Amino acid sequence: MSILVYVENTDGQFKKSAFEAVSYAKAVADQSGNQVVALSIGNVEDAQLTLLGKYGASKVLNVNTEQLKSFVNQAYAAIIVDAAKSNDASVLILSNSFSGKGLAPRVAAKLNAALADGAIELPSATGENLQVKTGAFSGKAFAFVELTSTIKVIALNPNSFEVKEAETSATIENYSPSIDAEDFSTIVKDIIRATDKISLPEADIVVSAGRGLKGPENWGMIEELADVLGAATACSKPVSDAGWRPHSEHVGQTGIAVSPNLYIAIGISGAIQHLAGVSASKTIVVINKDPEAPFFKVADYGIVGDAFDVIPKLIVALKAY
Ligand code: FAD
Repeated sequence: MSILVYVENTDGQFKKSAFEAVSYAKAVADQSGNQVVALSIGNVEDAQLTLLGKYGASKVLNVNTEQLKSFVNQAYAAIIVDAAKSNDASVLILSNSFSGKGLAPRVAAKLNAALADGAIELPSATGENLQVKTGAFSGKAFAFVELTSTIKVIALNPNSFEVKEAETSATIENYSPSIDAEDFSTIVKDIIRATDKISLPEADIVVSAGRGLKGPENWGMIEELADVLGAATACSKPVSDAGWRPHSEHVGQTGIAVSPNLYIAIGISGAIQHLAGVSASKTIVVINKDPEAPFFKVADYGIVGDAFDVIPKLIVALKAY
């Protein structure tokens, strides 16, 4: 038996969430005495593949063909299923990322497996079953999902599990599964990145601003603060609706859900629809001039003050740090 973990890359570099998924898989494997098999699809160099061993993989399956350079949901799902079967996997782990959200249910359906998506903690075993804690209702609640099928699929939320080094090393195998032509009925011709900045769903730190910033001309200080912190920028819905910021930055119930270690909310009131997308953040810092702003109720730290006064001072202090 093995624990199979699918590891995502961007332009040949594994994402942080990939290492989190391997560390998580290693911890699950240690509970059951199994080995971790990592599956990489795309053009990834050996040095990157070897790195997976450092975090707990014993074997790395490398699928590297021109046809699979870009993400194709159906084909990738077919390969994951093929790898699961040929490696006798009892548990499959994926990141609950943009592509993981599409892959996990497809893989689970093909394997007749139960799925826990949005896992935020290690599972606990109850006999043959696994119980997994997941976020529910846009992060407003938790669910304990019992997986009772023989094969189990877990999609791990980014930033939910710490990357840990393990005393392992991995063998790397080139893997050539047979793929049906019909799995390529949808083909991604090209991916044009909207921005070169840090990816919002996976960011460690997010600096987010709302209508309190008054207008798009005032976002210079938000971007500067984000640069100093190595953070991604985000915004509330009215801000992107007004065209002050791109829609790709809109977080909340109808936007992107984020789970960074640090979420800094500036001039955002904290409406329930906004909180739905950010409440999985580990630490929330709120900067708002209204002490009654609802966001303060969920904040770990708060500054009551005018953003135009506080942010420049914060930037100076952080630069001096
Ligand atoms: P406001 O509510 O106008 O708040 C601005 C805040 O800035 C205030 O708290 C004010 O005190 C503060 N402020 C003003 N000036 C300053 C200053 N100089 N310095 C510091 N603070 C200042 N919203 C989302 O964000 N994401 C969603 O996904 C989303 N989905 C929705 C879905 C539905 C179906 C509906 C009905 C609404 C949704 N909304 C969503 C909108 C949501 O209800 C709020 O209207 C929105 O989040 C408010 O945005 P805001 O906090 O930027 O603006």
